[in-house]
Amino acid sequence: MQLLEDNSLIQEDYPKNFEEFIIRFSTEEACYDYIADLRWPEGYKCPRCNNSKAWKSQRNLLCCSNCGHQASITARTLFQGTRKPLRLWFHVMWWIMSQKSGASAKNLQHTMGFNRYETAWTWLHKFRRVMIRPGRDKLNGHVEVDETFIGGSEKGIRGRKTIKKALVVIAVEIEEKKLGRLRFRLIPDASAENLISFIKDNVKQGSVVVTDGWKGYS
Ligand SMILES: [Zn+2]
Repeated sequence: MQLLEDNSLIQEDYPKNFEEFIIRFSTEEACYDYIADLRWPEGYKCPRCNNSKAWKSQRNLLCCSNCGHQASITARTLFQGTRKPLRLWFHVMWWIMSQKSGASAKNLQHTMGFNRYETAWTWLHKFRRVMIRPGRDKLNGHVEVDETFIGGSEKGIRGRKTIKKALVVIAVEIEEKKLGRLRFRLIPDASAENLISFIKDNVKQGSVVVTDGWKGYS
């Protein structure tokens, strides 16, 4: 589970609302393609012969056109070895991110209709490992917090007033001018309530929080 560490599950082109989400991830293939793009943003290269041409088998393996080497798209990700459709996993991911006051296994079980509580618990924890780390692993030191919109630019709408786009609040550790660990959350608006609960959940007490000075943080 190393490759999708630290929220890299969410890319710039991640859907900004549920309608976009269900259209974008309507097929297994689209989900696999998304993961492949995350893992190989520069394009896949065969680890054995470095050839960049590969075709996708029915079992979603990338097969090198030169040496025939096969690579699993989901290996070493939280989706590794699953028998459930990736569409379901993606759906759960969307659901977890949209839970304002944190997702619980019980709610997840109920929402998705899982027979077993343990299934919901396992899934939730898999996502938490890559999306939201447990409280003991909060960011600390100098932490920069900002909000951003995902889904590209939209004409005529500026700043925080937009309602159409998904708003994400992001916290980044700043270590000696380089970016450290990162946390984010989808929020319905940039209200003080949302921002503060995000900071409380993700940033250790006593840290220096740097923001762009908007009153939502004061
Ligand atoms: Zn090869």
